[in-house]
Amino acid sequence: MSEEAVFTVQNLIKTYAGQTRTIDGISFSLHPGECVGLIGESGSGKSTLARCILLMEKMDSGQMWFQGTEMLKPRTTLAYRTLEGQVQAVFQNPASSLNPRLRIIDSVMEPLDTLKNRTPVIVQDCRQDRLKCAERLLDLVELPAHLLHQYPHELSGGQKQRVAIARAISSDPSLIIMDEPTSSLDMITQAQIIEMLMILQKNIGFACLFISHDLATIQRISDRIMVIQEGRMIDHFAKEDLFSSERHAYTQQLVHKYSKRGRKL
Ligand code: ADP
Ligand code: MG
Repeated sequence: MSEEAVFTVQNLIKTYAGQTRTIDGISFSLHPGECVGLIGESGSGKSTLARCILLMEKMDSGQMWFQGTEMLKPRTTLAYRTLEGQVQAVFQNPASSLNPRLRIIDSVMEPLDTLKNRTPVIVQDCRQDRLKCAERLLDLVELPAHLLHQYPHELSGGQKQRVAIARAISSDPSLIIMDEPTSSLDMITQAQIIEMLMILQKNIGFACLFISHDLATIQRISDRIMVIQEGRMIDHFAKEDLFSSERHAYTQQLVHKYSKRGRKL
């Protein structure tokens, strides 16, 4: 394990009942402030890997370290709770991270409220501070403050995903796992959100594992790219080398098949 890594996983294995290994011995490290892209065809195990890292799914075996501390056994402890919001996630469907019954302000502030053990009474007491904080977070994701008082169904898909990002950065995390965060959006909105994420990442400095099935998006946002095939990490390179003739044959095949404008993995 590299000393300065923000996150390291070693030999992660995950098998669903009745299937061959979905994740078959994956190892990698993420360093502070870098964005690492993960590409692979549909069903290659990208989301399973993300869920295992986030301890939403129990891995069969493997080890994970966050800032040098080994994660405790999944499910048996709320390991990431003790990390004080240091690891956050953004998923493809913003509906999965936004409670339809909560106003936007309460969704955005939820990670911080939890971290600070704010009960409903305390939430009332610090309304002004919360409002100021939520306005600042919305400003960072380039949304107008008046949306704070609305409900998710009143927002567009792009706005909801910006809210999910505001929520993810609210606790000043060291690592954000993003699983296809722009894949449900139209091309223009996707591009705008990617540009915003790049600015946020530069200014805030979190490390990012960015999962996508879109080669152009991955190449735009990532410093390094990893390729997953049938649960194995088969290639790993600097983004400039995506089109290099020295790439693994499978990577070249992906590039050839999907680099035409608009084609997705
Ligand atoms: P990707 O995100 O790369 O499209 P997934 O990680 O979602 O791939 O899925 C990888 C494989 O694991 C697929 O064959 C999928 O059917 C299977 N899988 C994913 N989640 C589950 C689950 N909860 N139960 C059983 N099989 C699953
Ligand atoms: Mg997926």
